[in-house]
Amino acid sequence: MKSLLKLGLVYTYKCNASCASCCFECHPNLTEKMELKDALDYIHQAAASSTFDEIGISGGEALLYEDEVLKILDYASGLGLKTSLTTNGFWGNTQENALYKLELLKEKGLTNLVVSTDEFHQSFIDYDYIENILIANEIVGIPLKIYNLVIRTSSEHPLATKYKQCDWIKGACVPAGRAKHQIPSGNYIYGDYGGRCTYADKLTIMPDNFVYPCCSPGIRLKSMQLGSVSELSIAQLVQAKENAALLNIIIRRGPKWLKEAGEARGCFLQNRQDEYVSICHLCMEIFEDEVFLQQMEPFIKEILAEIDYEKHLKREPVFRDKT
Ligand code: SF4
Ligand code: SF4
Repeated sequence: MKSLLKLGLVYTYKCNASCASCCFECHPNLTEKMELKDALDYIHQAAASSTFDEIGISGGEALLYEDEVLKILDYASGLGLKTSLTTNGFWGNTQENALYKLELLKEKGLTNLVVSTDEFHQSFIDYDYIENILIANEIVGIPLKIYNLVIRTSSEHPLATKYKQCDWIKGACVPAGRAKHQIPSGNYIYGDYGGRCTYADKLTIMPDNFVYPCCSPGIRLKSMQLGSVSELSIAQLVQAKENAALLNIIIRRGPKWLKEAGEARGCFLQNRQDEYVSICHLCMEIFEDEVFLQQMEPFIKEILAEIDYEKHLKREPVFRDKT
């Protein structure tokens, strides 16, 4: 059975913080946001297609538009969809306020809360705010993940030991967006970047209406765009994702495999390096390298034919190529 997708709504680029690590370079002065009526329409289409089971709201800081976020949660949960919300926790200034907001979110059907907290976020938001949310959520009980972005010089999160029973996720910062300009390359944690992509199980809609196949930090690249919700329906965008040739290679073989397949054919990435933070980091380097993509174009059909043949042997459905 085909697994269901997640519809990601990057609701706004406006944020009350401007973290050095921010991949979308969000800032208090940015005003770009999604219209509420459009967000509800995307959710309606997603539910009608039976292809999605979850709506994810992020930003920027989506809760700067609290009333709208609550309406989105209410609408999505009313249609039977799971919901997740990513926030920097600016609303946890007191335990009372944290409790009030969490109860409101739960009442509107929020099924998963993600709180981003690390040295970058806490240049703007006090650690106490995060602790207030953790304490209040012991009463409210929304399933909670704490996302902790790290670089080589990061110390242990000050709340990690005290709240070790919580679901902490450590993620290595990728040099994308503001991070690329503000964090020196020697400070990233380079690691394993092999294997196939198993994270492109989304349609992520940005405030400018362009849609991408995942929610990785480096996605805002023209070559990764599946289309725009101004021109295509959600169902057409799902089809575009299934037909996207390079993405299918990344999903079936992985970015490292594609880089090496290129090298074997005399095509090299312009930015030659041997270390990457993750497969998403290398994937971003591939998708932003127009020269590499152009050189690889004649080989894409051949690679896809191999993958199709492999799928055929495994009796999996074959996608149509689009180069
Ligand atoms: S990383 Fe999150 S909290 Fe920080 S500026 Fe970006 S959106 Fe705002
Ligand atoms: S490997 Fe590429 S397609 Fe997959 S999640 Fe990362 S950036 Fe997205």
